Amino acid sequence: MTLSLETVANNTASRIVSRGGRATRTRVAVLDILSRAGRPLSHDEVGAALDSGAVEHDRVTLYRTLDWLVTHELAHRVAGTDRVWRFNAGVDEGHGHAHFHCARCGTVFCLEALQPTIAATLPQGFRCKRAELSFHGTCPNCVGSPSEP
Ligand SMILES: [Zn+2]
Ligand SMILES: [Zn+2]
Repeated sequence: MTLSLETVANNTASRIVSRGGRATRTRVAVLDILSRAGRPLSHDEVGAALDSGAVEHDRVTLYRTLDWLVTHELAHRVAGTDRVWRFNAGVDEGHGHAHFHCARCGTVFCLEALQPTIAATLPQGFRCKRAELSFHGTCPNCVGSPSEP
């Protein structure tokens, strides 16, 4: 993954500023990485992408940056079956979209088109603020491979 910061930095920076934050180099770089990844990335994967873009960082700064992006609704996070948090850009209004966990390669996919509608069928008196829907199985990259679980 290569970073061409100049082309997207202004747009990314303005999204951060619009949430009341300072557009630090790390925040802009991390949000840019998440926006381009197309799937949720672990802390280590984001760190590796920062390294390849020659963006200096340490683990604490990266943790804080990811937390800040989630808190300010520029990113969301999902726990994998390995209990590792993964992060992706974007947040739904109201409901969380579904995620697919591949048991073979460990990749987590955001299924933005799949919104849990089960909230509509909750018994009377329950008011849903957030829903999580997870699918577990084999992703297209792994279907048909010899050791498919
Ligand atoms: Zn897979
Ligand atoms: Zn997602």
